[in-house]
Amino acid sequence: MTFAATVLTLYPDMFPGPLGASLAGRALREGRWSLDAVNIRDFTTDKHRSVDDTPAGGGAGMVLRADVVASALDAHRDERPILAMTPRGAPLTQARVRELATGPGAVILCGRFEGFDERLFEARRIEQVSIGDYVLSGGEMGALVLLDACVRLLPGVMGAPSSGEEESFESGLLEYPHYTRPLEWEGRTIPEVLRSGDHARIAAWRRQKAEADTRLRRPDLWERHVGARDRPPSGAQRQKDD
Ligand code: SAH
Repeated sequence: MTFAATVLTLYPDMFPGPLGASLAGRALREGRWSLDAVNIRDFTTDKHRSVDDTPAGGGAGMVLRADVVASALDAHRDERPILAMTPRGAPLTQARVRELATGPGAVILCGRFEGFDERLFEARRIEQVSIGDYVLSGGEMGALVLLDACVRLLPGVMGAPSSGEEESFESGLLEYPHYTRPLEWEGRTIPEVLRSGDHARIAAWRRQKAEADTRLRRPDLWERHVGARDRPPSGAQRQKDD
């Protein structure tokens, strides 16, 4: 099964864009995933081909019409999950990326202007996804981010299969820091332990660094990690409550 991505956008020329280069691009050419960028404007019915209109209630900007976007979506709907890019969505996580990467692919809606008419989300089963707490001018960059994160996890895409597993977020922690030659640079050397050849010591050092850095840089992740570690398994909890 190949991971099939369909992107609904007003700017299909933005695809594959950066996903045509490097590992994702090679995987695309090798057929390990597919990408179809569809122009939402092709689904308009009026002579002006309008995809947007002024916001109900007034205010700045324009809103993407539910009827036009739904027509584009309905023409591409199948068993794949439908995701819409919006800063109002659930923050994208590595866990969700991993689920998506093991599935059949995704249909991704890219917003523009002020975003989509809300009725679209009431009328169709659509997962609203945000790539972070900042505002982009359109959903295309978000779709590229999401697809890049998925594609690198597909079988045969990354050089070393294990390099996906120790990474930041996979364990609930940030990854440990990396070093490479030269041994000395601007008077700084590589930590001695990494040159010791003692694999147990190296693993312990890396674990300790990952924990310390997560605690310092991402107290939010650290709290969740510690919480998950200290919480009793759900079965034990239930017994105690009974
Ligand atoms: N008025 C909206 C922002 C619209 S930005 C608001 O304040 O919530 C225009 C489009 O860019 C959105 O429809 C969405 O598709 C995309 N976009 C902007 N920021 C995003 C983010 N953080 N994550 C995902 N998509 C985003």
